[in-house]
Amino acid sequence: MNQEQLKELVRAFGRIAPAFHRWRAELIERASASNGVSQDVEWQQQIDSWCRTLCKVSLDEGKEVIRRMEEGLCSVPPYGEFAQAIRRESLLARQKASHPIDGYRTYECAKCRDTGIVEVWNPWFVEAYREQFELITRREINREGNKFNLDRYDPGRTIVAYEIDPPSWISDARSWWRNRSDSEANPMYHVALCDCNCAATQTLQEELDKFNRGNRRSPDGKQASLPACGAAKYDGNLMPVKTADSYGDLHGWYAKERAQA
Ligand SMILES: [Zn+2]
Repeated sequence: MNQEQLKELVRAFGRIAPAFHRWRAELIERASASNGVSQDVEWQQQIDSWCRTLCKVSLDEGKEVIRRMEEGLCSVPPYGEFAQAIRRESLLARQKASHPIDGYRTYECAKCRDTGIVEVWNPWFVEAYREQFELITRREINREGNKFNLDRYDPGRTIVAYEIDPPSWISDARSWWRNRSDSEANPMYHVALCDCNCAATQTLQEELDKFNRGNRRSPDGKQASLPACGAAKYDGNLMPVKTADSYGDLHGWYAKERAQA
């Protein structure tokens, strides 16, 4: 893809990873300060570098990767690996497409991606944390007077960028929870058996049933421990699914509960 196409891709990525633009602004500011060149030059060099990484990838292929990230079919990379991740996933998709016998992987269940295992927030934590969560604020970043000129990266203002106060809220929450509970037995979030009907879920369910009856055996005949999904079953009425957007998970959950009340 060319530079214009790359910029379009960067905007599309920013829509699924709102903190990306902020990260990028900080990166450019730091690099510009330490290299003694203007931010415009630094930004152009960054674009050139990403362009080199993505020279063999088309805009459509890149957009398809972002669409899959958005749907949770592949993970959102650490921002520094943005271009490499797009390249890797695009080439992988191309490889799969050229071997139609393997087919392109689509998932029956977006929650567990057909692994039978879904990551969920611990319902005890979710219930106990409600009041603490009220103390955390998330506000849209005010573009006017912001020291990072966000408009430069997102001139159409299509992206809502948030600032969470305090920024350390998730690690604060972890210490708060640890001080209240036996954190080994009660983590903030954990894996659970999905409630879908994919093949892996069915297999794990059988293994879990065996475990619960006390006759789950390892290949050498010894009593085996829990299968990989753990003991819990996912219940959409009790536990929010854990995604990369922790604030959004809890915010959405509490809002839904308030609406139902
Ligand atoms: Zn599932």
